[in-house]
Amino acid sequence: MLMILVVLLLAGTFVIYLRFSKRVPILMYHRIADIPGDRNSLSPAKFEEQLDYLSAWGFHTVSLQDVHSYYTQGKELPPKPVVLTFDDGYEDNFSVALPLLTARNMKATVFPISDWIGQPNNWENFGKPPAVTMNWEQLQNWLNAGMEIGSHTVSHPFLSQLPGDALHTELTQSKEVLLSRFSLPGDFLCYPYGNYSDQVITAAKEAQYKGALAIYDKAPLWNLDLYALPRIPVSSRQPLWEFAIKVSWLHSILIFFRKAEVFIKRRLRKKRQ
Ligand SMILES: [Zn+2]
Repeated sequence: MLMILVVLLLAGTFVIYLRFSKRVPILMYHRIADIPGDRNSLSPAKFEEQLDYLSAWGFHTVSLQDVHSYYTQGKELPPKPVVLTFDDGYEDNFSVALPLLTARNMKATVFPISDWIGQPNNWENFGKPPAVTMNWEQLQNWLNAGMEIGSHTVSHPFLSQLPGDALHTELTQSKEVLLSRFSLPGDFLCYPYGNYSDQVITAAKEAQYKGALAIYDKAPLWNLDLYALPRIPVSSRQPLWEFAIKVSWLHSILIFFRKAEVFIKRRLRKKRQ
C-alpha cells in the first residue's frame, strides 16, 4: 500500500514538473532604494546580489515579447529565461537599476502610469514614502538601452471596479501614449494591484493587448492565461535562498500545492456547513 502511494506521489510530482518546468518566471519589482520598512523598496545591494545570482547560475533575462512568442509560436528562448518587471516606473529604476542591468547585459520591462510620468507618487495616497517617477526623457533612454515599456493604465485604479467606459479609457489611452510618444505598440498591460476580472480581460483583448500581467496568487497556474500571467513579487525582505527558489521551477510546484491545499480546505469547509 505504502509502495503504491509513493509511486503515485512520484508520478504526480513528475506530471506537475513537466507542466511547470517550461514556464518562464516573471519577477515583479517596484522601487530599488534603501527604505527600511517599505516592502516594495528593494535595496540596491540586494538587487545587485540577485542580478549576480542570475548571472552566476546561467539565467538569461528576456522581454515579454520574447515570452509571448515562446508561448504562442514555440519560438525558442535562451537557457533559463527570466523576465524582470518594474511597476509604476519610479525614477530609481532609471538611476539605480538601469546601470546595474546594463553592466550585466540584462533587460527589463517597466510599467509607467501614463498620467503620472515624471510626477511625485501621489497616486499612492496610503502612507508610501515620497518618490518621483521616470520622466519622458528617462523613459526614452530606458528604451534606448534596450529595455521594454508596457502599460500600467492611465491612473492606477482597481480595474475590476470600473464601469465599462472608464475601463476602456484606462486601457486604450495608456496604450495610445506609448504609441504616440515612443512609437511602441504597447502590447502588454500590467494590472494595478494585480487586480482583474473576466470583464477586464475582455476589455484588454478589445484594446488589442497581446497579454497582461497579474500576480501569481490571483492568477491561474495549471492552464496559463496570457491575459493573467502570474508574476512573482520580490519583496525588500527577500533572502537570497528564497529568491533562488522563486526563479526555479520548484516555486511553481510549491505554489501549485499551496493553491491545491487552499482549494481542498475551502471544499471541506463548505461540506461541513
Ligand atoms: Zn502599480
